[in-house]
Amino acid sequence: MTPDESPTEKKGQPGIVSAALSGLCPRCHAPYLFAAPAALADECSACGLDIRALERGGRFVGVVTMLLALVLIMAALAVDEWLRPPLWASLVFWGPVTVGSVIGGLRLYKTMWVYHQYEERSE
Ligand SMILES: [Zn+2]
Repeated sequence: MTPDESPTEKKGQPGIVSAALSGLCPRCHAPYLFAAPAALADECSACGLDIRALERGGRFVGVVTMLLALVLIMAALAVDEWLRPPLWASLVFWGPVTVGSVIGGLRLYKTMWVYHQYEERSE
């Protein structure tokens, strides 16, 4: 994992997707944004940015998780109707897909939220 140094990004900011994947701090770009796969750290270990304060107001996290779960259940039902796979195949496939999508979705959502809050405050 290398930092995104593409010249097309504005003002040297890493892309939001790579920031979410590597958990980059919006101020110093150190990889300390997340303390757990889908949980933000309280503050950046490198520059001391108060991440918890930036997270405040991000109370749509529950809604995002539910929407993701709903989409996945609909997709699971559609695949089930279409291919009629054995139960074990469904579990083997949808278990990791569900966990991965929820963690990925939450990371992306929280990263976008924190970056948005950070940019709003620095203006
Ligand atoms: Zn930092």
